[in-house]
Amino acid sequence: MCMIYDADGSVVMLGQDKRKARKSHRCSECRRSIQPGEEYMDERFIWQGEINQHRTCRHCLVVRDWLLAECGGYLYGYVYEDIREHVHEGAYGVDVKFLSIGMERRWQRRDGRVWPTPRTPKTTHEATA
Ligand SMILES: [Zn+2]
Ligand SMILES: [Zn+2]
Repeated sequence: MCMIYDADGSVVMLGQDKRKARKSHRCSECRRSIQPGEEYMDERFIWQGEINQHRTCRHCLVVRDWLLAECGGYLYGYVYEDIREHVHEGAYGVDVKFLSIGMERRWQRRDGRVWPTPRTPKTTHEATA
């Protein structure tokens, strides 16, 4: 089940910028450190009366993009749970599974190097079209 279907309301966006990190930041989705020089998405929004600052690494943005295209939305902070749940359902290809594994490993190889940015998998709508 897509998490977006259970969402009660949506965020009020205050600002959304793609930035290059000048110092390291924690990704709000996978929790890895976004290293200086890496691009990430910086967003400020109001959710349930609170102002949130949300930073998303370039890898997690791919997962978000896929959820948006496949399911029509995503929940801030729940991208990993959502992608894992989709893989669990088993109705998706290896490229979707790859995203789930990537997030689980925080997009890092054993030697600590960061994975290349994955490609956005095709949605099931595209695959059957
Ligand atoms: Zn879905
Ligand atoms: Zn991330």
